[in-house]
Amino acid sequence: MELVVTGSIGIDTIELPDGERRENLLGGSAAYFAAAASFSTKPGIVAVAGNDLPDAHKHLLASFNIDTTGLEIRSGKTFRWGGKYHENMDERDTLFTELNVLGERPAAVPDAYKSASHVFLANAPPTVQRAFREEFPEALVVADTMDLWITTAKKELLSLLQEVDGLVLNHDEAEQLTGKRNTVAAAKHLLGLGPRFVVVKKGEHGCLYAYRLAEGVAGGGEPERIGALPAYPAEKVVDPTGAGDSFAGGLMGFLAARKKEDITFPILREALLHATVLSSFTIEAFGLGRLSLLTGSELDTRIKEYRQMLQF
Ligand code: AMP
Repeated sequence: MELVVTGSIGIDTIELPDGERRENLLGGSAAYFAAAASFSTKPGIVAVAGNDLPDAHKHLLASFNIDTTGLEIRSGKTFRWGGKYHENMDERDTLFTELNVLGERPAAVPDAYKSASHVFLANAPPTVQRAFREEFPEALVVADTMDLWITTAKKELLSLLQEVDGLVLNHDEAEQLTGKRNTVAAAKHLLGLGPRFVVVKKGEHGCLYAYRLAEGVAGGGEPERIGALPAYPAEKVVDPTGAGDSFAGGLMGFLAARKKEDITFPILREALLHATVLSSFTIEAFGLGRLSLLTGSELDTRIKEYRQMLQF
C-alpha cells in the first residue's frame, strides 16, 4: 500500500448563510482525504466509527477506490460535527462537536498498512498523531493540525513537528503557531521546527509553500525555496467543508507514487496543483457529493485548464 490516512469518519451537519441546512452527511477528515486521494492511488484509512454509521455512508465510502480494512466499527456513536458558514463562505463557526467513539482509544493500524510509503496524519491530538507516526517509521509523513491543539497542546505539537516530513495548515493557524502575521515568515519559521516542507492554505486565496533545500543544493543563497499557487477560480461554491482535507488528499495522492528522496520543489508544486484542483471539485456540492460523481476525464480537463491559467 502506498498511502494511509489516519483521521476521522463523521456524520456532519452543514448550515449555509441563507439558512439551508443538511444533516447526516458523511464527513470526517479521513473520508474527504481518501476520496480525493483515490483518484491517484488506493489509500487505506485508519479511523473509527460507531455502529450507528448508516449503510448508505459505508456504501458511499466503498464506491471510491479506498481500502477500508482499517475502518474500525465499534459499539457506540459515530463522531458528529456541525458547522455554519459565514456570508463569505470561507469562515465558519462550529455548531457542535460530539466526539463519541472518536474520543475513545484510536483505531488500530492493520498490519498490512504498516509498510505504507506515505502517511497523512489528519487533525487529531498531537499525542495521538505522534503514536500513529511511530507505527510507520520508514514512511514520508505529513501532518495537519488545528487551532485547538496550538492552544492546548503546543508542546506536544512542536515535538510532533520534529518527526514529520511535511506540515499542512491554515494561514491563521500558521500565524497562531509562529506569532508571525506574514505567511512567508511564518512558513520559514515552521520549516525551522522540523518539516522539510510546509504548505499554508489560504482558502480562496490559494496556498503558499516553503521547501527546505537539501544541503549543498543551490537555492540562490537561500536555505529554502518559497512558492505560491492561486486557488482554482471557482464560481460554484456550495459547501466548502472538506476542502482542506481533500486538498491534502490530492497532494498526498500525487506524492504517493514518488519516493521520499525524489520529492523535489517542482514535484511538490505539481502535487499542489492536483491538490488545488481536487479541492475545487469538493466545494461544488454538499459533502462528498461532487467527488463521488467526478470522472477522471473531468479531473484531467480541469488540471489542463488550471495549468493554462498559470502560464505567462
Ligand atoms: P475541513 O473543512 O477540511 O476542515 O474538514 C471538515 C471535516 O473535518 C468535517 O467533515 C468534520 O467531520 C471533520 N472535523 C471537524 N472537527 C473535527 C475534529 N475536532 N476532529 C476530527 N475531525 C473533525
